[in-house]
Amino acid sequence: MRFDLKSFQFVDNERDPDALAVAAADRSLTWAQLRAEAGAWADAARRQGVAPDVPVAIYGHKEASFFVAMVGALLIGAPFVPVDTIYPPERLRRIVEIVRAAAIYDAAAGSFTPAEGAMLDERGLAYVMFTSGSTGDPKGVQIGRESVGLLGDWMLGSFRLGDAPVFMNQAPFSFDLSMYEVFATLGSGGSCVLNAREQIAAPGPWMARLAEHGITVWVSTPSFAHQQLANRDFSPATLPSLRTFLFCGEPLPAALARKLRQRFPDAVILNTYGPTEATVATTWIEVTDAVLAAHDPLPVGHAKPDSVLLVDEGEICIVGDHVMRGYLNRADLNQAKLYTYADGRRAFRTGDLGQMEEGGLLFCRGRMDDQIKLNGYRIELAEIDEALHGLPGVEGSACAVLRRPDGTAVRLIGFVTGLGGAAEDASLLAADALSGWKERLAERLPPYMVPSELVACQALPMSNNHKIDRKKLIEIYSAIPV
Ligand code: AMP
Repeated sequence: MRFDLKSFQFVDNERDPDALAVAAADRSLTWAQLRAEAGAWADAARRQGVAPDVPVAIYGHKEASFFVAMVGALLIGAPFVPVDTIYPPERLRRIVEIVRAAAIYDAAAGSFTPAEGAMLDERGLAYVMFTSGSTGDPKGVQIGRESVGLLGDWMLGSFRLGDAPVFMNQAPFSFDLSMYEVFATLGSGGSCVLNAREQIAAPGPWMARLAEHGITVWVSTPSFAHQQLANRDFSPATLPSLRTFLFCGEPLPAALARKLRQRFPDAVILNTYGPTEATVATTWIEVTDAVLAAHDPLPVGHAKPDSVLLVDEGEICIVGDHVMRGYLNRADLNQAKLYTYADGRRAFRTGDLGQMEEGGLLFCRGRMDDQIKLNGYRIELAEIDEALHGLPGVEGSACAVLRRPDGTAVRLIGFVTGLGGAAEDASLLAADALSGWKERLAERLPPYMVPSELVACQALPMSNNHKIDRKKLIEIYSAIPV
């Protein structure tokens, strides 16, 4: 059995309905069970007002019921809005308010909380994914069902994943990287092994679990794979069926690709690139020894079928039916970022700097704006500036990123004015000057967006065009005496 990504229905194929569909943190489901539970979930959701084009929020972390709910929503034609528990309740509340979901489904409790739902203007969406927004609110990326169908076609047609791939899933479902595993599992009739944060924290038993399920495709950010290299069990001896590493979400360092080639000489490494706004990814390249010998930094590859890539005045633009239908209720942003390409299809200005070689090989050269990636998480620095501004007594605020020499972001530092600080120089905020600032920020921001230190300044440095000078902030930070 599999789930067809054109009709959005379960269809029979030669795969046994008793084969594993989902091995979640809490329980496993065969394909027959997934079909039965998704159907029952859809009935229950309809009773809550969830309907075609009326969204439903799904809150949880790697429960089997989270997966069931996503499939149930696809059956109804209701856009699902995945929200991982890494997000604090305040952020969930805001997302539900913005998207006007009919209900919040709590995957751990298996229950619905009704909300004031409404039909979206965009019809036929598969999901709405919220990413960090520079206004201080997350922004909703609306992905159509046609885009998801194209994602499935590409993965199953080009990635050589085998007949019944077994995916290692760990990225939160609120990070669109995870939609790779969700839709490729559904479209192929394969299996998805969901791994919760608590499971990953115990490396020995976790690797044993991956081995037991015979994972064949590893999907993660490069940072996540890098962390696993310290674990000796992360090897072909423990994971003999692992054939493919599928990376996306941030630059793949050539050094990491080399280490993986040494440790897993028979595995294929795929580097893929693209923003949430263009349904997970748009380019791909197999990182072979020849590619490694020719390039450092690595290219992000060529355009996937049915898409066009352009570099317009240095900015990467993506064209195709996999481009989002728009940000929800953000006409201003849509005006700035979306346009219609010459062939009539949707086109998106990514904000990524790019360079294209003859033959269409694309290189990503960083961002044009203040969006960053920290351990694969996408962050608008302005959203953190806003949250810092909400702290008591704070008059001005900004945050900046500490990076390794290779450019990788490693830590966030917050800067505030209005709370004292030396006249000339900045100083690290004394713990009692603003007690509980981390906890306060964590009410609004996920942990990965909470700065690790807070610095009190007399004034924030401004650049010539009257924007916060974030480079100068890092200089100020580096000059603070220890
Ligand atoms: P997200 O929407 O979270 O997937 O983040 C998309 C952004 O991550 C892109 O616009 C790029 O800035 C960056 N990104 C994604 N994949 C890659 C890659 N393979 N190499 C370099 N940057 C990437």
